[in-house]
Amino acid sequence: MTEVRVRIAPSPSGNLHVGTARTALFNYLFAKKNNGKFVLRIEDTDAERTSQSYIDNIFDSLKALGLNWDEGPDVGGPYGPYTQSERFDIYPKYVQKLLDSGFAYECFCTPEELEAEKEIAQQNKKPYVYSKKCENLTEEEKTKLRAEGRKPAIRFNIAKAQKAFHESSMLHFDDLVKGDLHVDTNLLGDFVIMKSNGAPTYNFAVVIDDMLMKISHVIRGEDHISNTFKQILIFEALGAEVPRFGHLGMILAPDRSKLSKRHGATAVSEFVEKGYLTDALINFVALLGWSPSDGQEIKTVDEIAQDFRIGEISSSNSIFEYDKLNWMNSHYIKMLPIEELKERLKPYLTQYDLTSMTDAQYTRMVEVTREPLTLLSDITDAVTYFFGEDVVIDEKARETLDTDTAQDVLKTFTEQSKDWVWTEENLHEKLEAFRGFYKEKGIKPKVTMWAIRAAVTGRLCGADMTAILAILGKEKSMKRIKSAMKQTV
Ligand code: GLU
Repeated sequence: MTEVRVRIAPSPSGNLHVGTARTALFNYLFAKKNNGKFVLRIEDTDAERTSQSYIDNIFDSLKALGLNWDEGPDVGGPYGPYTQSERFDIYPKYVQKLLDSGFAYECFCTPEELEAEKEIAQQNKKPYVYSKKCENLTEEEKTKLRAEGRKPAIRFNIAKAQKAFHESSMLHFDDLVKGDLHVDTNLLGDFVIMKSNGAPTYNFAVVIDDMLMKISHVIRGEDHISNTFKQILIFEALGAEVPRFGHLGMILAPDRSKLSKRHGATAVSEFVEKGYLTDALINFVALLGWSPSDGQEIKTVDEIAQDFRIGEISSSNSIFEYDKLNWMNSHYIKMLPIEELKERLKPYLTQYDLTSMTDAQYTRMVEVTREPLTLLSDITDAVTYFFGEDVVIDEKARETLDTDTAQDVLKTFTEQSKDWVWTEENLHEKLEAFRGFYKEKGIKPKVTMWAIRAAVTGRLCGADMTAILAILGKEKSMKRIKSAMKQTV
């Protein structure tokens, strides 16, 4: 068997989309599984939509996801360059080959002429197929058209290629994911492979690159199926080996429409900014079409690679369930080693003065606030009461503080805690006794604690109260309690 070589070929007209990340992942997994090579090629032929920042974003996002490539624009490789705009001098030779063998021809039609053809097709309610008007132009006619200043585009001659390599007009291929796929090539229409300005079109450049880069398997989204038929014919016309193709179902939003910004983040970098861990994101993305044989969904990329079989990928569309991703992300946050979590949270804590805490205090704060985090960014709000002198008291906390019971609790707490040793361990014991003291008076322990929590944090929910008091220290805790007593009743 020849070496497995797969590629991801993003067009840098936007930040790396999660759909492209999934395509990259499946290619990467397929390469890993088969001891093959994973190639990155940047398809930047559309200069107007390309930008360097998108190229950088593609590199950074793939790296952050751990999808490192064996060959690519930055690392090079034996079949470079790996950026299409640097390959422009390669394509004309193959155009010429197709012209010489009669599988391509010059087309002098103007945009207006083509538009007129399209309109007629529309009036007749027929799909538009190029008329082949220029297929049999004589040399004399061509010379005349050139003299008029017309520059030809080059079209691929579908019928000729089809006839040369297939018995009927039906073209079949055996898709790695979807099985037999076929089309009546009469419906394809002779498409342009090189524009009149000399620029190759996507369908042509991609074939030349895949051929020269010795790509053995092309795994990509099913939106490319109609292109695949055209590409197969070009491979054949060039006498090249046709790679195997596999097309992945689409990724849809929960409302089954195309996943777009209005549903939430769509680019990998947006997910990262929002506080998703790339390990969670890549694990989630793998499940969009692939399922683990042991039903155990939480897996590293290496574990997935062991279990990955391209033929078992679902051929249908997948739904991007943000809720499931959130669940996975919270799971990954829980699993993260504390030191790593401390570092990962720092970008979301820039508004606070972390130098006001010792490392031990910061560690403890993270330990007691990590549990309910869905996103890393949730930490910003979750720790707000650990910083600053005062707190903003929210409505529910104020309602609690506005009761006689709460005011009594706070008054007694102030008195009793005067000589407490302010360590978490000791506070734990003291608070237990304090709750007991009120329980005997018929006040539920949780009501007693609500009063203290409302005063110290300004809210009724949050981290373990003993830890909060210990981290804040006696002085700040008491100051807030006194202030809550003054502010209310
Ligand atoms: N540049 C194409 C895209 O981003 C690549 C398609 C392919 O994989 O051939 O859709």
